[in-house]
Formats: sequence, C-alpha cells, structure tokens
Amino acid sequence: MATTPVAVAESTVPTLSHWIDGRPVEVPPEGTAPVFDPATGAVIARVPRGGAAEVDLAVIAAQRAFPAWRDMPLIARSHIFFAYRELVYRHREDLARLISRDHGKTFPDALGEVLRGLETIEFACGLPVHLAGINTPGVSTNVDTHTLRQPLGVAVGITPFNFPVMVPMWIYPIAMACGNTFVWKPSSHTPGATQLQAELWKEAGLPAGVFNVVYGGREAVSALLVHPGVDAIQFVGSTPVGRHVYETGTAHGKRVGAYTAAKNAMVVLPDADMEFTADSAVASGYGSAGERCMAQTLVIGVGDAADRLRPLMEERIQRLKIGPGLDPDVDMGPIYSAEHRASIVEWIDKGVAEGAELVADGRRFSRPDHPDGFFLGATLFDHVTPAMEIYQEEIFGPVLGIVRVATYDEALALVNGHKYGNGTAIFTTDGGAGRRFELEVDVPMIGINIPIPVPAGYLSFGGTRGSAFGDLKMRGEDGIRFFTQEKMVTLRWPAPGRREKLSLVFPGNS
Ligand code: NAD
Repeated sequence: MATTPVAVAESTVPTLSHWIDGRPVEVPPEGTAPVFDPATGAVIARVPRGGAAEVDLAVIAAQRAFPAWRDMPLIARSHIFFAYRELVYRHREDLARLISRDHGKTFPDALGEVLRGLETIEFACGLPVHLAGINTPGVSTNVDTHTLRQPLGVAVGITPFNFPVMVPMWIYPIAMACGNTFVWKPSSHTPGATQLQAELWKEAGLPAGVFNVVYGGREAVSALLVHPGVDAIQFVGSTPVGRHVYETGTAHGKRVGAYTAAKNAMVVLPDADMEFTADSAVASGYGSAGERCMAQTLVIGVGDAADRLRPLMEERIQRLKIGPGLDPDVDMGPIYSAEHRASIVEWIDKGVAEGAELVADGRRFSRPDHPDGFFLGATLFDHVTPAMEIYQEEIFGPVLGIVRVATYDEALALVNGHKYGNGTAIFTTDGGAGRRFELEVDVPMIGINIPIPVPAGYLSFGGTRGSAFGDLKMRGEDGIRFFTQEKMVTLRWPAPGRREKLSLVFPGNS
C-alpha cells in the first residue's frame, strides 16, 4: 500500500539542544534550522545555529573540566570507556534508526556504521597501554631517559553529514582517552544521533564538561578555529572547507588534521573474477547512495575487462531496490538533502554534455508513494575520460564511471595522478599483480579484491593529496600521537661523593 508522507506542523517538531557542561542547553526557536527526513521531505526536527557565544561556553566548560580529567588515574578513565562501550552496544539499533532517519541510508548500513565506530571506542578502552612511554635506562653514565605522553587540553571534532556516528567515534574516543576534553561540532543535516551519544557518556559516568556539543555551521566553526582555548582540531568533510580549517587553525597555533574529499578508483585486471567484481563495484558505488568517502566511483577496466564487467553491472543496477532507508529489503535510500540531489542531477547532465555514454540514468527514478522524498536512481557512465570533470571531481552520489585503458601501467598512472588520493582497490586473481599494486600505488588505503578498504577501527585512517591536510592520520597510533604531546625526560640522581668536576663542555653520552 502506498504511504503518503504526513506533513508535520513545524511548531510540533522537537528542537535539539547544544550539550554543554554535562547538560542540554536550550535555544530559542528563531536560532534554529530545519532537519529533513530525506525519504519524505518533511521537517522532523529543528537544530540550533550556534555561534561564538555557544562555542565560548563549551570551550570554557571543557577547559574547566580538563585538569581533573587529565589527572584521573588511567584505569578509572578506562572504566568509563568500558561503560560507554557497553551502552553504545546496547543502544546500537537506536543509534542506527536515528542515522537512517536523518541521512536516508538503509538501517543495516547504519547499524554497520555504529559497529565500525564501536571498534575505535574498544581501542580507546586500552588507553593505559596506548599512553605508555619508553623507558631507556643508562643512556649515559648514571643517566636514564623516559618519555611521557600528555594531553594537549581542549580538542575539537568537526564532522560531516554522511557518518553522523562512526566518524565522530573515530575522533572523540581517542582525544578523550588521551586525557583531553572535547567539543564536537556535528553536521546540522544529520544531528539526530548526537544527543543520544552525549546522554550515554553521562550515563557511563563521564564528568561534566569533558564532552560538549555545539551545533551550527560556518559561524560556529569560525569561532572554534580562532578560540584561544582550543588546542587541537580534527575535521572531516569537503576539501575547500577542510583546507580552510587547516590553514586558519594552524595559523592560530592549533594542531589540525583535516580529512577531506575523494574520487576513488578501482582497477580491474582482465583476469579478475568478473561476477565478484561486479558485485563489489555496485556495492561500493551505490551503497549509502554513493555518499561515502571510501566509495569507488571510478572503475578503471584494463584491456577487455570493462567489456565483460559492464553487462554484469547493468544487471545488478536494474535489480537495486531504492526506497526509504528504514523500509526492509531496500538496497539504497534517498539522497540526504534536496540541494545535494539537485547538484548530483547537474553532474549527470554535465557527464552527458561532456560526451560520456550514459548507460543507466538515475534521473528517471521516482517513488510515486514518496513524491517529496529526495530519491535518485543509480547512474552508470561508460567511456569516461580523465579530461572530463565527472572524472576529476567528487560527485558524492550514486554515480559510477567506467574508464577504459590498455595496460596496468596506464591504470596505475591514472590513480597516482588524480588530485585526490583517499582509497583505491585492485581486482585480480594474480597475487603478483596485487603485490605490485600495493607497492606502487600512491594512495594510503588499498583494497585487494576489497571494494571499500576502510581499515579496522584500531588502525589509522586517512588519505593524501587533496584528500587530507596535516601530517598524521586519524585513529590508531597516529590518533594517539595527534592528541598528545610527547615529553622526553633525561634524568640522573647524583650520588653523594660521586660528583663530577665542573665542565663547560657539551656533554657527550659516555
Ligand atoms: P562539509 O565540508 O560541507 O561539512 C563538514 C563540516 O564542516 C560540517 O560540520 C559543516 O557544518 C561544516 N561546514 C560546512 N561548510 C562550512 C563552511 N563554509 N565553513 C565552516 N564550516 C563549514 O562536508 P559534508 O557535505 O558534510 O560531507 C561530505 C564531504 O565529507 C565529502 O567531501 C566527503 O568526501 C567528505 N568525507 C571525508 C571523509 C574522510 O575521511 N576523508 C569521511 C567522510 C566524509
């Protein structure tokens, strides 16, 4: 039976609250923006548009909470992380429902997101081990050295719409495990799961002020970038905003890492298992409606690979079920916003104008039972070339392009020459070719017969070229390094009667 969307009167929708110093901070309705259900187009909530005043409150709360959090015994801090891990796991379906409702991705996909975020919380539970230093006795006569890892102070996370739970969970557990306090600026498009995370931290026993949330857009971000109380920022989002965050934040003395846009390519060699490769390409390109920074959006077929792969991909595209993310049996949900849907349609128009062959046209798709939803079908282009803008730019929608080359070397040169370098993959049954690719490709996250090579949550994550700014990756060992300052202590305890003579010589280690 067709379901007509029920328009909700704007005055009855809930207004979300900032979370500062361990409690919600209410906002007058005039300072809010609408949140849409992308499956119906209806307004489902209102989100505060925070600015300098709210940022200041949150940073001051975080600064106040910092000394006690930094000095809390490591095992006591770790116990709070274990409690939070249990609560997130218990509420995993609640979080997934909120993600799916706001973003449009399918419920199982949203659940996968929560579980991949959980991995990093589990990594953070081992914080006493991760924060261990190095102790080197005897670096010189009666002289020992050890290192300390100490928190920086107030850390900030600025996160995108497309992973409203997983990406923040790749940032805040590491920042807080290292002893920093935290201010999170989530995306205003998908805020539904934010407050639940704040409430679960409180239930886990986190002291007030250690975890704060300020909603907002450019104004809130601008205030964070220059606030003298902010020490470190990790940003995840588009490249122009990430570059601005990196340049402004570092110019104001902050440690910044920005993880940004992508145009990932999977190379398909003629010896690949084509049925398996077609499944992988379609899953990667159209999962989450292509709104993943690790989606493979270019398929580079070597030799005759594209001739054999394309019909298999077409069959699969025709079978995709597109509908509301919370409906069972749906493969792909709507686009997250009406504006973004319109921009993807413009990209498809552009691809046609640039001369790519339009094999499957997602613009034709509609859901008559959801006439105001932001739906789009899966789009496939063939004969895409590096001269085309649809090859060069991130579209961030369900649009895949096939590129044809004669040799492996040509394919490798394309991947290494792209302005973005986030993830890549090779599909082959030849182990030697796979090994060569992992050594020769200039992209840090590599899949060999894996289409979405997101490393496990206890390893580092990040790209290169236009896909990342800063020297360290996020999460894992790099995450610990990013959110701490290392101190090196060189020490001796002079024994009575063993004092050396006064010397002005630069001391050698002997
Ligand atoms: P976005 O850049 O529009 O927003 C990211 C964050 O910046 C949000 O919190 C937003 O409120 C804020 N923001 C937006 N415009 C701003 C401005 N002008 N000034 C200051 N702050 C601003 O990104 P998005 O659309 O939410 O997310 C999609 C992008 O994120 C894609 O480019 C995708 O590739 C990228 N992404 C990258 C990774 C990665 O790890 N490399 C992961 C997920 C998403």
